[in-house]
Amino acid sequence: MSTTSLPGRALGSAQRNGTSSGAVAVIGGGYAGFAAAVTLAAARRRVVLFEAARTLGGRARRVDACGTPVDNGAHILLGAYRQTLSLLRDVHGHGAEHELLERRRLVLEQPGVFRLRTPGLPAPWHLAAGLLTMRGVSRGDRLRTVGFVRHLQRSGFTCAPQLTVAALLEDQPASTVAMLWEPLCLAALNTPIGTASAQIFLNVLRLSFSGNARDSDLLLPRVDLSTLFPDAAAAFVTDRAGDVRMGATVAAISSDEAGVAITTGYAPERFTAAVVAVGPHQLARLFAPPSITDAAARALSLISEFAYEPITSVYLKYPRSLGLALPMMKLDGAPGQWVFDRGALDGPAGLASVVISTESAHPRIAHAVLAQAVDVQLRRVWPQLPAPEWTQVIAERRATYACTAGLQRPEVSALGPRLYLAGDYTDAELPATLEAATRSGVAAARMLLAAHT
Ligand SMILES: Cc1cc2nc3c(=O)[nH]c(=O)nc-3n(C[C@H](O)[C@H](O)[C@H](O)COP(=O)(O)OP(=O)(O)OC[C@H]3O[C@@H](n4cnc5c(N)ncnc54)[C@H](O)[C@@H]3O)c2cc1C
Repeated sequence: MSTTSLPGRALGSAQRNGTSSGAVAVIGGGYAGFAAAVTLAAARRRVVLFEAARTLGGRARRVDACGTPVDNGAHILLGAYRQTLSLLRDVHGHGAEHELLERRRLVLEQPGVFRLRTPGLPAPWHLAAGLLTMRGVSRGDRLRTVGFVRHLQRSGFTCAPQLTVAALLEDQPASTVAMLWEPLCLAALNTPIGTASAQIFLNVLRLSFSGNARDSDLLLPRVDLSTLFPDAAAAFVTDRAGDVRMGATVAAISSDEAGVAITTGYAPERFTAAVVAVGPHQLARLFAPPSITDAAARALSLISEFAYEPITSVYLKYPRSLGLALPMMKLDGAPGQWVFDRGALDGPAGLASVVISTESAHPRIAHAVLAQAVDVQLRRVWPQLPAPEWTQVIAERRATYACTAGLQRPEVSALGPRLYLAGDYTDAELPATLEAATRSGVAAARMLLAAHT
């Protein structure tokens, strides 16, 4: 993975002398847009970022739940998120990671049912030792799983592009499919194993397990997702003479060799170049015929084939601390899949956040009914929990594109003269994740900088 390292916060000589070239626009204030904006601002471009919402972060943002700041859904980062971690250092300063993120060696535990714990060994031995000592899986199944992972390593974590995760796991024991592989696939790709891309899943495994042992660390945010990156990135941009406009919906974009015209109100505003980093389903609205370029039409045609998967988050505030053994624990999927103890991560004591990925995992039911089902589920596992004080359900219906086998996606590219595409769906290697978003934003910004010096 490539990373960017940015210069310090001081203005460059071009800006001090007022000789910086015209402003560059970024459309979209999610992790991709801010990764682009920070990269451009660090290269001494004056950036104007447009974000339709009044909170920064897009699909990874702070929301209010009964007066408590929470996230639109709990997010996990991995040690392998090199680009995201590099950007966090750029905007928060070196050494801020431990204030922002709780870093733990990979442990997946469902109380009394299953446990995978990686010991402090170098890669790949940490994984082999973790698999050999899994709890809740027979010895024979553990050995088969180690053999399977060795086979994946020997094959360089590659497979046919059309293969699904279910087909990849065809010969694997039902116990490890149910307890290990399927939950990992849902967490990483947010796509059921029957349709999920085996190659993208293998890419995630390779990035997590074939380099440094710390790549598979789980990084759990100690701050809300807007504070984690977008808010600090906005300060980074404005400190460098840029502008972050919230509540600013871009209605149309057109570009030619002279620059890019962006319309939010009546008259279009002109920029020297732009990065478009909106969600895939939001891209079509920005381009109206006849101004649409062939490249934009090609990207939109690929996106029209996308399906989307939801992620539902259930917040439950109990009157006292949850007392879980770990800040993140696996559940049985009926209906919650993972529970996060926000109180153990600098949130209010007693705040549980329960995640349910994909549509098939939970058909649409009324929020109150779902919250009650999750409360019953938690009290099945932790019977000492009292009744919750309040609950709130947040359903992100288009949390991610469905990362299906063989899906063709647009890549980070020029959409037209002086116009560049970014967004989590444009990273060829990774599924829709924060790391895919930041990698795409940095790549688009570099493409712009290389073409328009
Ligand atoms: C509930 C949930 C849980 C997740 N869990 C994880 C996880 O554990 N780990 C992980 O790595 N990833 C996770 N993800 C995925 C991750 O959040 C996304 O991949 C990432 O945030 C996408 O960033 P982006 O910048 O590409 O797009 P977005 O975040 O969608 O940003 C696009 C932005 O563009 C703005 N916009 C759109 N149209 C316009 C317009 N016309 N004018 C101005 N602004 C516009 C939108 O308001 C939005 O802010 C999760 C996602 C969800 C929803």
